[in-house]
Amino acid sequence: MRKPIVAGNWKMNQDSEAAEALARGVVEAVGGVEAVDVVICPPFTALERVAGVVEGSSVGLGAQTMHWESEGAFTGEVAAGMLLTCGCDYVILGHSERRQHFGETDETVNRRLKAALPAGLAPIVCVGETLEQRQSGVTEDVVRTQVTGGFDGISGDDASKVVLAYEPVWAIGTGETATPEQTEAVHAFIREVLGQLYSDEIGQAVRIQYGGSVKPDNADELFGQANIDGGLIGGASLKADSFAAIVRAAL
Ligand code: PEP
Repeated sequence: MRKPIVAGNWKMNQDSEAAEALARGVVEAVGGVEAVDVVICPPFTALERVAGVVEGSSVGLGAQTMHWESEGAFTGEVAAGMLLTCGCDYVILGHSERRQHFGETDETVNRRLKAALPAGLAPIVCVGETLEQRQSGVTEDVVRTQVTGGFDGISGDDASKVVLAYEPVWAIGTGETATPEQTEAVHAFIREVLGQLYSDEIGQAVRIQYGGSVKPDNADELFGQANIDGGLIGGASLKADSFAAIVRAAL
């Protein structure tokens, strides 16, 4: 039985003070939920402050990216060890905005994954096709390439610790949600790919979130699909009540 996981990606929103207040709202609303893993991912600058708020609750803390090296001349970057000392449990890797605006590729996602896992961070690896790719009928090829490249050289044991987030790029921040059927089909396909790369058991064990304009009013139907194990939430995670309602939909 896979435990659902709902994570809020706050992106480049919330200064430290606003982040602390939002985190308090989340902890008050769902800080005692045990049946769903609840994670919030503030910007780097607010991590330590938010860590103080989630401490002692069941809410986990995640970062939005990290570098693969442990230290050095990489201006602007942050290493896994630094995230751990800020209290992080999770890290999002390969979000489509990182791929689109900051040149991340399957190869660099793979390097990050290979650094996050031994450090003890739980990675949330994002995959998903653009609108153009969906319209040209290559969604499965794109997702297969992203999963295969992202997991290259990762052992089966480690693969089962990874959370995947299927996020069709055309559904992120657009209000356009993939239908539960469209989403379910891709999630089932990702399990097949993992089954081929590792084993059916691992394909069935890995948690796969859906992300892309999830809201309180569509979460129930999406999370009700057999292969969807919760969500990665952008816009709707910036309000404690809407995020909490989405968490409850995963119960
Ligand atoms: C995201 O940023 O991962 C995301 C899914 O955003 P939104 O929920 O706003 O579409």
